[in-house]
Amino acid sequence: MKKNIILMGAPGAGKGTLAKQLISLGLIHISTGDMFREAINEGTELGKLANSYIKDGNLVPDDVTIGIVRERLSKDDCKNGFLLDGFPRTLPQAEALEKMSKEISRPIDVVINLDCDEEELVRRISGRRVCKNCGAPYHITNKKPLVEGICDICGGPLIQRKDDNEESLKVRLQHYVQDTKPLLDFYQDKGLLQNFDSLVGMNVLFDEVSVFLKK
Ligand code: ADP
Ligand code: ZN
Repeated sequence: MKKNIILMGAPGAGKGTLAKQLISLGLIHISTGDMFREAINEGTELGKLANSYIKDGNLVPDDVTIGIVRERLSKDDCKNGFLLDGFPRTLPQAEALEKMSKEISRPIDVVINLDCDEEELVRRISGRRVCKNCGAPYHITNKKPLVEGICDICGGPLIQRKDDNEESLKVRLQHYVQDTKPLLDFYQDKGLLQNFDSLVGMNVLFDEVSVFLKK
């Protein structure tokens, strides 16, 4: 089984949804976006700093982001495998990850890239709702909750993320193309990249990725 995994893909490609499904394989889900949103909800200094970037769709500075991932990856629970979702997003982050994964002897086994066309990304993000308590993702037409406005898992209220608006999304997609997409070549060159079509739908995608990871 492949256990140290990076999930890549544009905003809306389905990283978070897939990651939450893959937890059932015993992997620890590390989402920098979730970590920042938690800090924002708690009103910490990190949260205030992160919010000033996230609200407009910009990237949080590398040193801050690398710092929180380093701390998280060094914890004991990551020793049986981790799923990085939303990190790395820049070349300096990828280089820092190389270094730290060597230091803790937990090398990356595979980079899963979710392919999705831009029109679909926009459709997914504009209809996305998330649970305010647990972060579980929903969609107003694709993935409705059992009871409108309420999370199936924890009963929390469903909200729209502040950065899921047209303006911020435009900036996020630009950052994806400029800063993050080049990482596909970086990992292709290392022989780690594995592409999956995210348009098949989240359940089929989950089956395909699980089969692949268990090989
Ligand atoms: P999405 O993939 O839908 O854009 P995420 O939850 O992964 O959502 O990230 C939300 C926001 O958090 C990003 O737009 C960015 O501002 C910030 N962020 C998350 N991960 C990183 C990262 N690795 N580096 C810099 N900023 C990040
Ligand atoms: Zn919930």
